[in-house]
Amino acid sequence: MRTYLVLISALALSACQTVETTKGGTVGVDRQQRMAVSSEEVNAGAEKAYAQMMAEAQKKNALDRDAAQVARVKAIVSRLVPQTAAFRDDAPKWPWEAHVISVDDVNAWCMPHGKMAVYTGLINKLQLTDDELAAVMGHEIAHALREHSREQVSQQAITQTGIGIAGALFGVGQLGQGVANAVADVTLFKPKSRGMETEADRIGVELAARAGYDPHAAISLWQKMEKLGGSQPPKWLSTHPPHADRIADLQNQAQKVMPLYQQAKAGGTASAGK
Ligand SMILES: [Zn+2]
Repeated sequence: MRTYLVLISALALSACQTVETTKGGTVGVDRQQRMAVSSEEVNAGAEKAYAQMMAEAQKKNALDRDAAQVARVKAIVSRLVPQTAAFRDDAPKWPWEAHVISVDDVNAWCMPHGKMAVYTGLINKLQLTDDELAAVMGHEIAHALREHSREQVSQQAITQTGIGIAGALFGVGQLGQGVANAVADVTLFKPKSRGMETEADRIGVELAARAGYDPHAAISLWQKMEKLGGSQPPKWLSTHPPHADRIADLQNQAQKVMPLYQQAKAGGTASAGK
């Protein structure tokens, strides 16, 4: 079950570095990150896993079934993606892709290198406005910009280095699938740390504001998520654990990026990289 950890820990032995994946932006995210796996390896793994998952969804007739919904999601993505330049020079040129999957779960995610999915349960059950949908996607995009999945895979690899030597026994051919599985696993199922969540919240509201979406929608989105709670809590909450002062922080950050929002609404281009 954990064989991919053995595989990736072989990589961990070769390279461990401290990096900063993004520029700070107006919201000022500046935490140093420890990486034991390369972006190239993780991105290749994400692309492989994403292609497999979308093929699977297609087979189940669950891929992009509602043309209007797909168009709506893609329109929001196409407004958010150019704004990623405020945080990373390379990001606007990533192979961004977004699909709508017909699943009742309230969930959405973005794998490394911009491979996104929005589940119909999220759109339908929460009756999201465009601003709120942009808040979810901005948040997910922010996780990808900060390479949080790479960081999580690295953390797993670091804690598993004891068995790293065993990993070397596996052929390199198996490594690709191992990393693909690990990336999909952390992106879809493993909760992010509180620090990562705060970063994604902050970068997310700035991306939304720069794209001309009301940054305060992140707050109403959270309120809707928590209200839905009850016996069937949204899947999204299990990978994005709420913390008490989250709403207050979102309110502060939304206020901070309001000028960017107003500028975007007025038709000006928010200056990237500041
Ligand atoms: Zn998150």
